[in-house]
Amino acid sequence: MNTPITVALSKGRILKDTLPLLAHAGITLKDDPFTSRKLIFETSREDVNVIVIRAADVPTFVENGAADLGVAGKDVLMEYGGNGLYEPLDLNIARCRLMTAGRKGWVDQGTRLRIATKYVETARRYYAARGVQVEIVKLYGSMELAPLVGLADCIVDLVDTGNTLKANGLVPMETIAEISSRLIINKASMKMKHNKVKRLVELLSDAVENQRAGG
Ligand code: AMP
Repeated sequence: MNTPITVALSKGRILKDTLPLLAHAGITLKDDPFTSRKLIFETSREDVNVIVIRAADVPTFVENGAADLGVAGKDVLMEYGGNGLYEPLDLNIARCRLMTAGRKGWVDQGTRLRIATKYVETARRYYAARGVQVEIVKLYGSMELAPLVGLADCIVDLVDTGNTLKANGLVPMETIAEISSRLIINKASMKMKHNKVKRLVELLSDAVENQRAGG
């Protein structure tokens, strides 16, 4: 039986950086996911489909078996938590750092800090481990604005080049985690579709090695 495999990706950097890895594994999408409004894509392999969803939803789809495999940033996985997923492969793409940042010249007065972030759980854990009292302000984007308009003292967000912080008069402070995208696998799929999933992991692992070697 030709059991189909569904791979969950998210728009943006992850999609852009994952497509070459899939291509190396012999999988190309039949439609252009950057221009199409489709959410589910057929591929050059009859038994492989790709769905394109919000980054934060990828672990939910995979854990619940709506997708067999997925690609998610370590930031998203840290925030999602739990251990309902296998995470066998670092794809070494969409690399950046999860950092704290604040206004240039800002000094911690030792009072309860207000932290703006979309990484509520990760930030809570990070400050709790340091014994720092914080109030978390949940935002969905444009975190960099929060310290400028008095909504927060600091932010917790992804930093790549640091240009966005700089453009907004903010400076990076502490690194919470080095981030890259990971392949995640549904636990039941790993058992029920073992050979196919294992082969796909091998092909992707090979693609990562090839990219690492500058191929
Ligand atoms: P940069 O100006 O290069 O430091 O990029 C920072 C902006 O890009 C912030 O708004 C981040 O949330 C976003 N960003 C940086 N790296 C990533 C990544 N790997 N995945 C998603 N968003 C990112």
